Amino acid sequence: MNQNHTEVLERQLRDVSHQMLELVQEQVRIVQELKLSPSEMQELLDKLAGLADEKLEKKYVRDLFGVVLGITTETVKAKERKPLLVSRVHQQEDTIIDLGEVRVGGGTPVMVAGPCAVESYEQVRQVAAVLKAAGVTVLRGGAFKPRTSPYEFQGLGIDGLKILKEVAAEFGMQTISEIVHPAHVELAGEYIDVIQIGARNMQNFELLKAAGEVQTPVLLKRGLAATLEEFLHAAEYIVSRGNRQVMLIERGIRTYERATRNTLDISAVPILKQESHLPVLVDVTHSTGRKEIMAPCAKAALAAGADGVMVEVHPNPAAALSDAAQQLDFEAFGRFYAEVKRSGLL
Ligand code: PEP
Ligand code: MN
Repeated sequence: MNQNHTEVLERQLRDVSHQMLELVQEQVRIVQELKLSPSEMQELLDKLAGLADEKLEKKYVRDLFGVVLGITTETVKAKERKPLLVSRVHQQEDTIIDLGEVRVGGGTPVMVAGPCAVESYEQVRQVAAVLKAAGVTVLRGGAFKPRTSPYEFQGLGIDGLKILKEVAAEFGMQTISEIVHPAHVELAGEYIDVIQIGARNMQNFELLKAAGEVQTPVLLKRGLAATLEEFLHAAEYIVSRGNRQVMLIERGIRTYERATRNTLDISAVPILKQESHLPVLVDVTHSTGRKEIMAPCAKAALAAGADGVMVEVHPNPAAALSDAAQQLDFEAFGRFYAEVKRSGLL
């Protein structure tokens, strides 16, 4: 190639590149002025790819103009996906759930306590008396217990809910109890104030749908190995059916760590608060499984922005029919509660 021809080609390359730059800028301006939606831009890219001659790969043309217009198939999909009803994008202001004297999500954190399982009227009554005297008004207690082994205590069922109702009426408390069967969701509303959906049932979609059909508030536990995205989608199942009164509760996830029963994911709290308008609580009993670290973990949860803490309390943990190793007796609960309150976070 002689010197002259090279110079001509170099000049041509410069000119063509300048023209291309100007055309690209013009293209961006027009697209912006037209306010093309992501899918319209995608359509434009497809048409351009169709016009290219066979020397140019269609994917290359789509990618080239896609980069110029800042559009990829993923961004089209993301932009066209509707925000979840449980997301902050859909609703800016916090959802607040009225539970008698307390408002969960209203800025004042709440303490939820009670036995792992409802074992008898007298047992629940004793716990309620101690809690109420301490100023705790939300009482938990499982009547349907999802146990790992079928040979272990399965709970008192509806009779357990009746006990909760009776004791709550006597002490003026609100009650939370787990429901495991969709057919019990409506009935539960007659006995308890909040339906708990347990970790093992976080993705029991028929149960979630049933919980969405009633107006009883729901406390949804994070699944044993659920991502936060899965957790929020589980909540979406309930809210999308019409029940907007949903609270989320982090209860520890399964990891390789054996020092605690599960691994308390504190980062879930600020992330869920950022992503969602629903109240977020932390269960320090099932996450840690260790009595001596429940207070610091409760404080960490509140410092991270949790709307409440849940802890299990039993009159005689050693004789408990479930979770004997990690329920606090009355004295330990007193110390726990005082330490958390001393932090000024509750
Ligand atoms: C419970 O809160 O009683 C319970 C069974 O917890 P989880 O579903 O988190 O294991
Ligand atoms: Mn328990």
